[in-house]
Amino acid sequence: MEGDFMRRPFRELLPLLKAKREQVKALGLWAPHLPPALGGLGLSLSEFARVSEELGRTPIGHFLFNCQAPDIGNTEILIEHGTPEQKEKWLGPLVRGEIRSCFSMTEPEFAGSNPVWMNTTAVKEGGDYVINGHKWFTSAADGAAFAIVMTITNPEAAKPHNRASQIIVPTNTPGFKLVRNIPVMGDEGEDYSSHAEIRYENCRVPQANLLGKEGDGFAIAQHRLGPGRIHHCMRWIGICERAFDLMCGHAARRELAPGKPLATRQIVQEWIAESRAEINASRLMVLEAAAKIDREGTRAARVEISLIKFFVAGVLQKVLDRAIQVHGGLGLTDYLLLSHWYRHERGARIYDGPDEVHKTVVARMILRQYGVDLSQ
Ligand SMILES: Cc1cc2nc3c(=O)[nH]c(=O)nc-3n(C[C@H](O)[C@H](O)[C@H](O)COP(=O)(O)OP(=O)(O)OC[C@H]3O[C@@H](n4cnc5c(N)ncnc54)[C@H](O)[C@@H]3O)c2cc1C
Repeated sequence: MEGDFMRRPFRELLPLLKAKREQVKALGLWAPHLPPALGGLGLSLSEFARVSEELGRTPIGHFLFNCQAPDIGNTEILIEHGTPEQKEKWLGPLVRGEIRSCFSMTEPEFAGSNPVWMNTTAVKEGGDYVINGHKWFTSAADGAAFAIVMTITNPEAAKPHNRASQIIVPTNTPGFKLVRNIPVMGDEGEDYSSHAEIRYENCRVPQANLLGKEGDGFAIAQHRLGPGRIHHCMRWIGICERAFDLMCGHAARRELAPGKPLATRQIVQEWIAESRAEINASRLMVLEAAAKIDREGTRAARVEISLIKFFVAGVLQKVLDRAIQVHGGLGLTDYLLLSHWYRHERGARIYDGPDEVHKTVVARMILRQYGVDLSQ
């Protein structure tokens, strides 16, 4: 089935995936991150982190347990900021796995690394917001029931951080135009694995679709990204473990000459030792960050969150690259998951904030403690 995931369109696999999801529900393991009142297991972030690692060992793990991005983040936003009506209409079907959603923030014309710089606007008219703008990289938009759209509602606010809001836009609203699924690393994707370019053209939704308060869009996004980075990092560690296993297994079996497996070469041993150390270090760092968020909240854990985001994304690339190298030509084929992950996870160093942004956050927070003036 995992091999199918790489080679067959998502829609073809959906009936099988749905059957597996029902099995997960029947086992009482559905949506482990959610509170029991919403049908989940009520795990803390630290507890769910462990589960996320296990699910990450397969590309279909999170989807089968209904804790896949971007739905997991949107669920958290709705739980925290949704009105009772919004919860009934969107959160309920989302947590039951009946619909999917997407998060629409990045714009082609503006640096996504600067999250307060954007051009999409929502203007009040009657009881509605009229939204106009251009987005791309809205993951999983194809087939989603609704988008949470980041849009400027308060252009006059003194602080740029208070200008944007998050608004729920059903994807069947007139003026919601999915232009195309953007090809990423040779793959246009579709459905859940798509990254869409979207135009919002006089897209009219009720003002009741606002999430939280006007101008709170950035604060809500920041709050969502903390746990989101724990989920991603633990998923990446799951991928690392699987790649590590494949690397060691192949090194042990593949003979360079009779009786001389690859594993006898010192350079391969070095890759194995370094990968083991880096994966173990990553796990401890992420669990530390998760525990701090559980204890003190996202804001208090800003340094830890940025540290793991760039560090674990880097470890993921290194481990995948070494595992492919050990497999030689076989590593590049689509018979193994390695090539799938190598393509699909290169984005780890870019989405949810590129490495450079996170390194800057960490360094600046540390340097401030040394009295360095970073205002210029
Ligand atoms: C696979 C994938 C899925 C995504 N899914 C979503 C989604 O669902 N919804 C959504 O809204 N967006 C999504 N994105 C968009 C993502 O959030 C942006 O790509 C990211 O924020 C970077 O913005 P940008 O692409 O505009 O790059 P830019 O902001 O133009 O940055 C380009 C490069 O400049 C460098 N750089 C940036 N800032 C600094 C700095 N301060 N110092 C030094 N160097 C710097 C970095 O190397 C960076 O890669 C996704 C992206 C990818 C790749």
